[in-house]
Amino acid sequence: MKTEIKPITSDSLSEAKTIILNGGVVAMPTETVYGLGGNALDDEAVKRIFEVKGRPSDNPLIAHVHSGYDLTKIIDYDPPYAKALREAFLPGPLTLVYPSTGKVSPRVSCGLQTLAVRIPAHAGAQAFLKEVDLPIVAPSANLSKHVSPTSAMHVFEDFEGKIPLILDGGESIGGIESTVCDVTGDVPVVLRPGLITREQIAAVVGDCKEYTPDFTKKERVKSPGVLYKHYSPRCATVLFATEERDKALSYCIAEQAKGKTVAVLCEDGIADGFADFTVLRLGGTETEMANRLYSLLREAEKICDVLVTVEPRAKEGVMVGVLNRLRKACTSVDIQH
Ligand code: AMP
Ligand code: MG
Repeated sequence: MKTEIKPITSDSLSEAKTIILNGGVVAMPTETVYGLGGNALDDEAVKRIFEVKGRPSDNPLIAHVHSGYDLTKIIDYDPPYAKALREAFLPGPLTLVYPSTGKVSPRVSCGLQTLAVRIPAHAGAQAFLKEVDLPIVAPSANLSKHVSPTSAMHVFEDFEGKIPLILDGGESIGGIESTVCDVTGDVPVVLRPGLITREQIAAVVGDCKEYTPDFTKKERVKSPGVLYKHYSPRCATVLFATEERDKALSYCIAEQAKGKTVAVLCEDGIADGFADFTVLRLGGTETEMANRLYSLLREAEKICDVLVTVEPRAKEGVMVGVLNRLRKACTSVDIQH
């Protein structure tokens, strides 16, 4: 199969629509990362998405809709505070998990009675979703466990020959995946941190909890995707705590002495300390760090054998999401959080 990258025009949108209506897969841009889109109502299309990504079958998908879509078609109960969250943040990088009407393919939520729904802000994503006027499941358009894509070329690298069309909407400005927030209870619960922070949600609703799975209780994990190793570049990765800068430098020197090509990923403020190595600079602000993280992880796998990373100093707000992704990228085994 030939994989084409096309700018978003009326021609490419109608081609995308034809592919979707025939059960196919189209990659689309969003403001967070690129997604691998398929018709959420079509069981075979959803199955194909799991197959093409190599995604574990117990990791549910998010349904994406345009801002004018009638949500009552796919969700059952909509608490008043969820409406307040939509008004405050949507369209935008916030996914809300509602009780499902069961109209989408049962594969979407992997047997859960809930459905995660997102209304992306990206103009190209909105145009595509309006064109098809269907709920579109769109997991990040990377092979399972690889780094999420923030450009059409990243998608091409993972899916050349496997999907027919990538809609090119430029580089994703957000850079990390949406915040996933459960709205099925009395109080919203953040299941996956992201660009909309727990504090921002609490400021609108009055309260917001953060979910951390308790593995001692053997409960079914509320957001199964949080179980898996994710986002990893195809080079060795080592993560040092913020205060372990000196240890990180010694590690770089030792690896280089073994003949390894070493690169360092860190915030701008400490980059000078690694002047003898290639430094991939995350930037200085939380938005810069979120925006650059994945593209730098993809760059790292092309230029080095070993990527040495030092955790940025800031740990609050958007950095909760950035650190969550960074830690998962730099872990060598499937981790339990
Ligand atoms: P991705 O599509 O790769 O961005 O991953 C989707 C994320 O949303 C994963 O962490 C899933 O666990 C989470 N998710 C999707 N559907 C649900 C749901 N019904 N309940 C809880 N989490 C969900
Ligand atoms: Mg993903």
